[in-house]
Amino acid sequence: MAIRLNQNALDGIGMTSARTRARLVERLRAQGIKDETVLSVMSQIPRHVFVDQALAHKAYDDTSLPIGLGQTISQPYIVARMSELAHAAVRHERVLEIGTGCGYQTTVLAQLFKTVYSVERIGGLYKMARERLTALGVHNARLRYMDGSHGLPEGAPYDAIVITAAAPITPQDMLPQLALGGRLIFPVGQEDQELRMIEATLDGLVETRLEKVKFVPLLPGVS
Ligand code: SAH
Repeated sequence: MAIRLNQNALDGIGMTSARTRARLVERLRAQGIKDETVLSVMSQIPRHVFVDQALAHKAYDDTSLPIGLGQTISQPYIVARMSELAHAAVRHERVLEIGTGCGYQTTVLAQLFKTVYSVERIGGLYKMARERLTALGVHNARLRYMDGSHGLPEGAPYDAIVITAAAPITPQDMLPQLALGGRLIFPVGQEDQELRMIEATLDGLVETRLEKVKFVPLLPGVS
């Protein structure tokens, strides 16, 4: 599948990494990622433009990396896993991401859904992500600088909500913002964290406990 990014912007950033991305995708496959659309999207998005230039050579390793201001870009596996879970929602109109960070996952989600809303509580990261997404030609992402602990009523209902920072308990406030058939995908816990999913079905909310994870904490307020 062809991704919706500005080709001119992509041409200027060293597409020699195409082979490296192909290896990344093979690794994701081996780790159990099955959604071919997600794999295709991740094989085309240049992850190295989202990290500090000094770390660009590590951009395709399966690790989280610092993006400044004490935050990290999630490891490719977890971006793929959460995106795959989101993409398995019934519809693909609107997705909400809590924690824009560097905007990498926002860019992945922007290829899978018609519109992506993404909120970030750190002004410096919000600004950098906004500039980067504009340069890449991601036109269907709406970024907001705010505390996303309670979701974002503005774009609701969402077909998927992906939280990329861990709350100590399930963020109940976001459940009413899910569309029928929608899914909330979130890490929960402090030291020991777990990835969970809550689906809004005709029979009510259904929770699935998925796997052990490690995210930065979901914090209140803006900075
Ligand atoms: N989605 C990013 C992951 C960024 S790390 C990626 O593609 O790699 C998680 C981000 O969540 C951090 O940037 C952090 O500042 C942000 N965050 C933490 N608590 C938040 C809150 N209450 N509202 C919005 N963003 C929050």
